[in-house]
Amino acid sequence: MLDLTPSSETTTATDQPTTRADLLGMSFAEMQAWLGERGQPAFRARQLAGWIYDSLVADFAEMRTLPAMLRAQLAREATIEGPRMRTELAAKDGRTRKLLLELADGRLIETVLMLYPATSEGRARATVCVSTQAGCAYGCTFCATGQMGFDRHLTPGEIVAQVIYFARELRHQPWQAPDGEQIDHVTNLVFMGMGEPLHNYDHTLKALRILNMPEGLNIGARHMTVSTVGLVPGILRLAEEPLQVNLAISLHAPNNAMRLRTMPVTRKYPIEAVLDACRVYTERTNRQVTFEYVLLAGENDRAEHARELAQLLSPLKQLCHVNLIPVNATAAGYRPPSGEAIRAFRETLRRSGVSNSVRAERGDDIAAACGQLHTRETRKAAPDRTESES
Ligand code: SF4
Repeated sequence: MLDLTPSSETTTATDQPTTRADLLGMSFAEMQAWLGERGQPAFRARQLAGWIYDSLVADFAEMRTLPAMLRAQLAREATIEGPRMRTELAAKDGRTRKLLLELADGRLIETVLMLYPATSEGRARATVCVSTQAGCAYGCTFCATGQMGFDRHLTPGEIVAQVIYFARELRHQPWQAPDGEQIDHVTNLVFMGMGEPLHNYDHTLKALRILNMPEGLNIGARHMTVSTVGLVPGILRLAEEPLQVNLAISLHAPNNAMRLRTMPVTRKYPIEAVLDACRVYTERTNRQVTFEYVLLAGENDRAEHARELAQLLSPLKQLCHVNLIPVNATAAGYRPPSGEAIRAFRETLRRSGVSNSVRAERGDDIAAACGQLHTRETRKAAPDRTESES
């Protein structure tokens, strides 16, 4: 049984029981050992990984270079299936696709693919936003997932499978970016879907390593971003990891009183403690930290909030970046600020020397924000209590 008290943050969850070995949750060394235990020569692991991650096949029967007996044994004893797709939605502009996936135990999670054209700062990207938990224990009021409560941690294989799903889609149907480049693979990952990645620390890190390994999808660590509400022990652990992933902090308010109104985690980890951990992180890794700030009209979007935020971040100024995110409409009824309010907020930060950007809104027409599709689907599936009781 998982301990969900705050002290369990960043501890390991037990893997979900499964009768077949989940190869997507194995490091290359584990795959070698698993095959070795079954009497297979060392080179089989490379062949198997090649079929899974280079050829992206979904069925052992297609692995033609493997002996028929091994293919049959794999089909009996292992799986590369991943969660079952329940719903796939594409935004009107074709640049955001969202999946509702059903895990083996029936729980639902969301995964999003976001396609970004090239900019002056870089080439076109295909970014997958993955979930690390079913539900979430942290209850941020602006987040649909936060209203569901926590179900369970995802296994490394369930996290990797979300990326594999879109890797297969892009292979079969590459995206033609406006500059003419064909994007046929996943280029970036953001761990910003359902759940708090550092609450599921060990499984998240294992999934990152599998996705980064040369025998796997080989996605560069610098193209991966882990986003947290500010779990201090997890940030400090991440600072010691040799994997050079990016760190993003969901800050969303310039002071504790205001942050507490939307993010109950502030009670346990006040902003000062989070920023201290970020300072350690930047010292250890020499890497920039991104601060995510959801703009809520009338709540945290005024000039005095921008000034307070700039002041708060001034000790980290050279190594931080603020990403402003106009809120998506959710059940909590928040509204995004006007374009003018967003521009004024940015200008105040800029004048104080805080680098910032606005995250382009994605997929509003398909409820792309974390947890919205899940909420919509479960509402559809559940009878309306008011109606059924009347
Ligand atoms: S924003 Fe992240 S941490 Fe907060 S409730 Fe949503 S999923 Fe959980």
